[in-house]
Amino acid sequence: MTKSFVAYNKDFDNQFRYDKKDLGAICSKEGTIFKVWCPLADRVELHLYKDGDKSDAYAVCDMIPEEKGTWKFESAEYLHGVYYDYTVTRAGEVTKTADPYAVACGINGVRSMAVDLTLTDPEGFAEDKAPAQQTENIIYELHIKDFSYDPESGVPENYRGKYMAFTQNQTGTEYPTCVDYLKKLGVTHVHLLPMYDFGWLDEAGSDEQFNWGYDPVNYNVPEGSFSTDPYDGCVRIRECKEMVQALHKAGIRVIMDVVYNHTYEPDSFLERMVPGYYNRRWDDGKLANGSACGSDIACGRAMVDNYIADSVMYWAKEYHIDGFRFDLMGLLTVELMNRIRTELDAEFGKGEKLLYGEPWRACESPMEEGTNAALKCNVQLLDEGIAMFSDDTRDVVKGHVFFEEIPGFVNGGKNLEEKLLGAVTGWRDNADDAEFKPLSCAQIINYVSAHDNFTLWDKLVLSILGGHGVNNEYRENTEPVTDMSVYTTKHADILEANKLAAFIYFTCQGHLFMQAGEEYGRTKFGDGNSYRSDPKLNMMRWHQTVEFADLLSYYEGLISLRKKLPGLYDKSADANRRITDKKVWAEGVVSYCADNTADAATDNVYSKLFVVYNSNKEAVSVELPKGDWVVLADKNETDCCKNPVLTADGKLTVSECCGMMLGMK
Ligand code: CA
Repeated sequence: MTKSFVAYNKDFDNQFRYDKKDLGAICSKEGTIFKVWCPLADRVELHLYKDGDKSDAYAVCDMIPEEKGTWKFESAEYLHGVYYDYTVTRAGEVTKTADPYAVACGINGVRSMAVDLTLTDPEGFAEDKAPAQQTENIIYELHIKDFSYDPESGVPENYRGKYMAFTQNQTGTEYPTCVDYLKKLGVTHVHLLPMYDFGWLDEAGSDEQFNWGYDPVNYNVPEGSFSTDPYDGCVRIRECKEMVQALHKAGIRVIMDVVYNHTYEPDSFLERMVPGYYNRRWDDGKLANGSACGSDIACGRAMVDNYIADSVMYWAKEYHIDGFRFDLMGLLTVELMNRIRTELDAEFGKGEKLLYGEPWRACESPMEEGTNAALKCNVQLLDEGIAMFSDDTRDVVKGHVFFEEIPGFVNGGKNLEEKLLGAVTGWRDNADDAEFKPLSCAQIINYVSAHDNFTLWDKLVLSILGGHGVNNEYRENTEPVTDMSVYTTKHADILEANKLAAFIYFTCQGHLFMQAGEEYGRTKFGDGNSYRSDPKLNMMRWHQTVEFADLLSYYEGLISLRKKLPGLYDKSADANRRITDKKVWAEGVVSYCADNTADAATDNVYSKLFVVYNSNKEAVSVELPKGDWVVLADKNETDCCKNPVLTADGKLTVSECCGMMLGMK
């Protein structure tokens, strides 16, 4: 512990809490104002540079102390494009740091940049608006580099793996790729893996580097490696905005993955500015490590909470971001999450911006007194407009997330029928005193695959055909599958398990979330943790959308169907009451009915739904409730509303390993 640590306690916050929104560098034709929050420093100096990394400072300016531990320097000059950092003198120690409140930076984020943000807007950005909300949110999780790194994406080479790839239409391939593909698929939201400035890769280095980006450096600046010029601080800002604008034009909203729970290194710009304040510590002074990434940010302290809330608001306002996914939300507080919900609702309208996160943390972490961790067990303390990933839904459908051979309902798991029916109502039918009982299915994110762990396809390959993947820290000393063709072969039983998995989570109440490429059997060749694996392994391989056209069209149908079914997309607190007649028919066979009536005018024509899942290797027969039913989805088709009325004698034959949905007018 350095001797200059601030001694944090509540009194510190009472004395120094600063709520004005003018920290950072504000640059206009009238001049440039630099302001930092740096209590108990003896001296703060501003250094100005002509570039982002190499040259010596051309000016050094003394900052003037002001209220609540802030320091200010006002220049009459228009310093747009000037790079800067600070030296902070505290108890005889001098620390150099970039500005944690910076909204622009140079190469690798080591120096901040003063920016006139009005100059970074692409043409028409002032008029850019999010497309209208659809009846349902279909969230598609995507990494910017994965999206267009494949030459078969058809994207010009200089835009591959970059923000600008999203601005490309009709990429010259014989089949739709990139944004054209997303439009056809019908997803409503793209959730982008971290796109703020992260630290792991060298922005000046090779394009063959890869990282998911869960290692934040500059929270309020876009990552440089996704831009065509990481040296010029304006380019990444403008190109990131062009990406958002292009997605909006395509009718797709944009969600940003935010990692406020830890910093790339404990020695972050925040911590350099106020040592001892931003990192969470145990009583003995050891860094908390609930993130398993080396540090936790001390959410629950006044200026940490201000920082995070202001950062979210900044992205929403300046970049027109439509939602936020919080990494390890369990390290943040319920109080902060609810505050962010309130602030976003006040500014943009209730529920206009989506909020959700991971309701867990890697390890214990000492939370501030009087706060509650935004963990799964505290779901009832969170606003109904804050959702969480449902590991219960994920695991009951496809099996254990770390252990390849442990199956779920679709791949041979036993005794999961009742649990699966719990997933159907977004766990709202759990007993009142259950450990987990959400306030509304709006608090649930249903999914079966995400960037973490195996892709759905790989999980199914390994659990059904046997064998082990690679890069799975939970499975040491296992021999991995060596024949890679096993992952790219379209085995019939894996294909049908995949379809059934999709069918199930698309017929549960809650929000829908999918990993990019799940719809065409995306493989990472058994890589269970590809966070820094080769971009060629991680990338979306576009030609596979042709090879797996049948699976793709199955998902397309599910997406389209789901948007038409109020019985499933209703997010009101009582939506679970629509689900009735839950029934276990036999091992691997369950069904339910859903009230599908709608108050608002929609193109829905079915007042009631009957949904059945069969995970057995043979067909089964179930009894249909009385009435004339139409098949809306079966083993092969998922948007077959045009089928004739089924005139069965009240019996329904359900093929092996599939789901069926029927509608009644
Ligand atoms: Ca970076």
